[in-house]
Amino acid sequence: MKIKEAAYVISSPSVEQCPKPDKPEYAFIGRSNVGKSSLINMICGRDALAKISASPGKTKLINHFIVNKEWYLVDLPGYGYAKISQSERKKWEKMIEDYLRKRESLVNIFVLIDSRHMPQKIDIEFVNQLGEWQIPFTLVFTKADKEKPGAVDRHVKAFLDIMRQTWQFLPQSFVTSATKKQGRDEILTFITECNKR
Ligand code: GDP
Repeated sequence: MKIKEAAYVISSPSVEQCPKPDKPEYAFIGRSNVGKSSLINMICGRDALAKISASPGKTKLINHFIVNKEWYLVDLPGYGYAKISQSERKKWEKMIEDYLRKRESLVNIFVLIDSRHMPQKIDIEFVNQLGEWQIPFTLVFTKADKEKPGAVDRHVKAFLDIMRQTWQFLPQSFVTSATKKQGRDEILTFITECNKR
């Protein structure tokens, strides 16, 4: 898929306020600092697209972008912020759960995992939760250029090995680098294929 056009649409505080669900939708989520904005910009070929959703006031909202007038890319607020109050966390959880479980046009969640680390509990818990809710997702191992390939492979394998203990089928996974544009074609091909269905 060639990206002809990618534009910011709106930031919504709840699933009810999101745009009409009349287009296939792909959401991106991961812990803060995982490289989500960089990945979204890399995929869309725009340097500062995801800056909009990272601007103050919008980091806790559901941010919609429209790509090629054809599908929505959604930037979801990250999890794992250290400095967040209990009540803020509850609000985030409710918004995300509602969005993930009620958004009928949602095709796939890209769950971003930092490829520099061994599996983190918070990421495992999040994918297990998606499994319980039966929400389709794929894994994206980010910042692959920052590690030796052997280390990236080891971290990916360790993550999948943990999943294998409880999951019957493993999700598709991608390895990406925003600086090297690694994984871009694979992710766009995946989206193209899903859009055909
Ligand atoms: P977000 O908080 O998840 O949106 O993360 P950002 O996209 O802002 O990235 C966090 C930091 O990691 C920034 O300093 C980025 O420049 C850096 N970063 C993100 N992706 C990559 C990558 O693929 N390679 C390298 N080398 N650095 C990255």
